[in-house]
Amino acid sequence: MYYKSTRNSEVNVSSAQAIAQGISKDGGLFVPSEIPSVTLDEIVALGDKSYSERAAFVFSKFLTDFSDVEIRYCVDNAYTSKNFDSENITEIAELFSGTFMLELWHGPTCAFKDMALQILPYLLTTSTKKLNSDKKTVILVATSGDTGKAALEGFKDVEGTQIMVFYPNDGVSQMQKRQMTTQEGNNVAVCSIEGNFDDAQNGVKAIFTNPEIAKQLEDNGMQFSSANSINWGRLAPQIIYYVSTYAQLVKQEKIKAGDKINVVVPTGNFGNILAAYYAKLMGVPVNKLICASNQNNVLTDFINTGVYDRNRDFYATISPSMDILISSNLERLLYHLTGENDAQIREWFGNLAQNGRYEVSDDVKAKLEESFIAGCCDDEQTKQTIKKIYDKYGYTCDTHTAVAVKVYLDYKEKTGDTTPTVIASTASPYKFSASVLSALELNTDASDEYELVDELHTASNIPVPQSLAELKGKEVRFNKIIDKSQMKEYVLSTLGI
Ligand SMILES: *Cc1c(COP(=O)(O)O)cnc(C)c1O
Repeated sequence: MYYKSTRNSEVNVSSAQAIAQGISKDGGLFVPSEIPSVTLDEIVALGDKSYSERAAFVFSKFLTDFSDVEIRYCVDNAYTSKNFDSENITEIAELFSGTFMLELWHGPTCAFKDMALQILPYLLTTSTKKLNSDKKTVILVATSGDTGKAALEGFKDVEGTQIMVFYPNDGVSQMQKRQMTTQEGNNVAVCSIEGNFDDAQNGVKAIFTNPEIAKQLEDNGMQFSSANSINWGRLAPQIIYYVSTYAQLVKQEKIKAGDKINVVVPTGNFGNILAAYYAKLMGVPVNKLICASNQNNVLTDFINTGVYDRNRDFYATISPSMDILISSNLERLLYHLTGENDAQIREWFGNLAQNGRYEVSDDVKAKLEESFIAGCCDDEQTKQTIKKIYDKYGYTCDTHTAVAVKVYLDYKEKTGDTTPTVIASTASPYKFSASVLSALELNTDASDEYELVDELHTASNIPVPQSLAELKGKEVRFNKIIDKSQMKEYVLSTLGI
């Protein structure tokens, strides 16, 4: 197996190269040349294995240039109870009969990004070693809040790497901001941008694909890579938990081997739900993939009409990690759905860059509808859902997860579909304590976010993650705010070149 670019099917690189590079030089994203298939028996057999063994199995299918020893090194270092507060790495909670919350937030930064970003540094350093490169890897990250912290934790003090994170100044929660600005480590930098997430993401992409800057780095023995979900090394680890969850549900006799499941994902950059789609293509029995958006519902409209149009108001919502109008990973999906038509992708994404809009063919639209359902809800509905789930089932979920629950309940009511369903629970409610408390109509008067955490602890009884409690005494190391036009200068001056 090798990796091609969505904007040039002739590109042919190893997985190590795709991971080390992050994005193809033509601006396209790397995709596997074929989707490996696994049998139902193989999936079911994973039910008796540990998470890291399941991970090794999935990686062996995609990272065919990695040796077994290299894969074991990566998975054993990442997926351990040293890094996760759950022996199982992920937890499954049954909300009500046949509806399961897949908790992906038991890692060090309390959001699902840890599932990939705890392992990405190992994948990346192994990749550069395999490529015999002695270049320093400079990781640039644009974050809507959760990726930034997860990437910082993953890469802090990792030899041969330096990491810089950009976040929208008014676009993250207090806890997210505190997590990032207090980051420790000698190879890290954090900077906030006057602008929204799309501004940060566009700024990072522009720096990545600027040949002059690339030359400047090369002359200094450095190269860029990405820790955003445009990097294949972010996507591949996310496929694992869908395969793993299916195996666990069979093992726990919640479903029978071969039963289909729906998967509901609160979506922003389309990375997490795309991973579920890859799991389906590999052979995990999936009925519908349900894409849930907040008020920034560009994906809902796209899946329902075939028209992608980012020319619309941008809303800062209580689920900030989904406040995105340009969903990068859609490009991978469309590459597959067009039968790997790179010319078509260049045209559509050229239109997106120029006019902020593209429309897919009827054929692609029909294929989209075959696999995907889309829905959205606003902040008020998100809050009502948090309250309803808490009152009815005693389960406290965060604002992002609540969007998924709401969209799923709407879907279920409308269709009567009784297929067992897995809802991706993407963050600990403690990361968004103020919004969750307000949804529960509890006291939100507090002098700081830690008082809110205590308040939410009383209400939810969920153990407070140690990593959040520890932030309290930490000093702020990064408080720079820059205009989005200054990102390039910031990067070069931080690198000292
Ligand atoms: C990043 C994030 C999302 C969106 O995931 P995508 O892969 O970008 O679609 C949803 N919820 C939370 C809590 C997140 O951090």
